[in-house]
Amino acid sequence: LGKVTEISGLVDLKIVNGTVLTMSTAGEILNRGAVAVHNGMIHSVTSGAEDLPARKVIDAKGKLVMPGLVNTHTHVPMSCFRGLSDDLPLREWLEKHIFPAEGLFVNSDLAYWGSMLSCLEMMLSGTTTFADGYFFEESVAQAVLDSGLRAVVCQGVIDFPAPGVPDPGENVHRAVQLIREWGARNSRLRCGIFAHSTYTCSPETLRRAKTAANGYEALLFIHLSETLDEIKQIGERFGCTPVRHLEELGIMDQRTVGVHCVWLTDEDMDLMARRDMRVSYTPESEMKLASGVSPIPELIRRGVVVSLGTDGPASNNDMDMFTEMDVSAKLQKVHNLDPTCASARETVWMATSGGAKVLGMENEVGSIEAGKRADLIIINLDKPHLTPIYDYYSHLVYAVKGSDVDTVIVDGEVLVEDRRVLHLDCGEIMDRVRRISEKIRKHKYA
Ligand SMILES: [Zn+2]
Repeated sequence: LGKVTEISGLVDLKIVNGTVLTMSTAGEILNRGAVAVHNGMIHSVTSGAEDLPARKVIDAKGKLVMPGLVNTHTHVPMSCFRGLSDDLPLREWLEKHIFPAEGLFVNSDLAYWGSMLSCLEMMLSGTTTFADGYFFEESVAQAVLDSGLRAVVCQGVIDFPAPGVPDPGENVHRAVQLIREWGARNSRLRCGIFAHSTYTCSPETLRRAKTAANGYEALLFIHLSETLDEIKQIGERFGCTPVRHLEELGIMDQRTVGVHCVWLTDEDMDLMARRDMRVSYTPESEMKLASGVSPIPELIRRGVVVSLGTDGPASNNDMDMFTEMDVSAKLQKVHNLDPTCASARETVWMATSGGAKVLGMENEVGSIEAGKRADLIIINLDKPHLTPIYDYYSHLVYAVKGSDVDTVIVDGEVLVEDRRVLHLDCGEIMDRVRRISEKIRKHKYA
């Protein structure tokens, strides 16, 4: 697969003896492959022995080396609300439980420690890049830098008083502030805007949010066509579907990411394909809230780029992209009564290269190729539930768990090795969140 340039002397890191699942367009899988990493980049990917001397060598014998997973939709601070309230319809869950709890408890401290906890959970289950949308996103941005993961962090925009944004008139301004202050600090961190939905943001707010995002070539995320309740509300207010509503506001393009996209008409899907709008599919959240099933095979047939997201840890309730892949494929099969749809290979693509494409990072991450950033994970295959192996894609979707991830590398930096997080105090992070949860518990059961 080639080399970037010749290097005299040592490369920073070399991973040898493992099976390398590249997720390149040609789909090479190299037995006993070698990946050399230098200056944060993949320097070379070769089959067989690699004679480059390296500062650090990881022996991946009996293991699978693959691109880090990309989670394109979550709300990381919400790990503090994991399991606080479940088994309710979306509207009641949001209005009676989540929004009130957020009003009382979300501050920069909760946002930071909740994000750190989510980052730990993500790195320990193989996610190296994620896209987030919430409030106090500067705390999320700080957690991203401290965790070492790669992320697109987006300040939430909503037309009522929100945590940290008591005046909704300031919502878009605050989102722009985040981009200005944090957008260029670190190559692993990018900023965007997260407009909550068509039913919580006015047409004017949506238009302003999109214009602001465009000014920085930033992404705009929006929960879209998630429930029948939303379809009814938008139909009554605007006489059209939520997708048609966005089209009329002129905000459908390849830098707009529709999250969920469950209740789509044929016309909606044609429009999304024509505008090259991107999708984040979050099957576990849609199942838990009984929102419905996204028409993923029909979107893919039309050429829409679809990626995978876990949604927030309060609506899933974990951030393991391996279980998300498993559920994603099986849900489509049973819903369409077609075991041939949502193949394992297509599902792994959505969680790697597809995610990178949705985030506009396809030239940087999502596959193991010389010249890309070195975001890699190593999976230990020496386990009873992973024996024997006939097909790696099948294993990744139907058998591997997040806890089988052994080593995690972002930008060439080893964050997790042999399941040990090298640079963070996991005990302290969990303790901080437990302390926050005590306050929430006291209030809930007062
Ligand atoms: Zn969401």
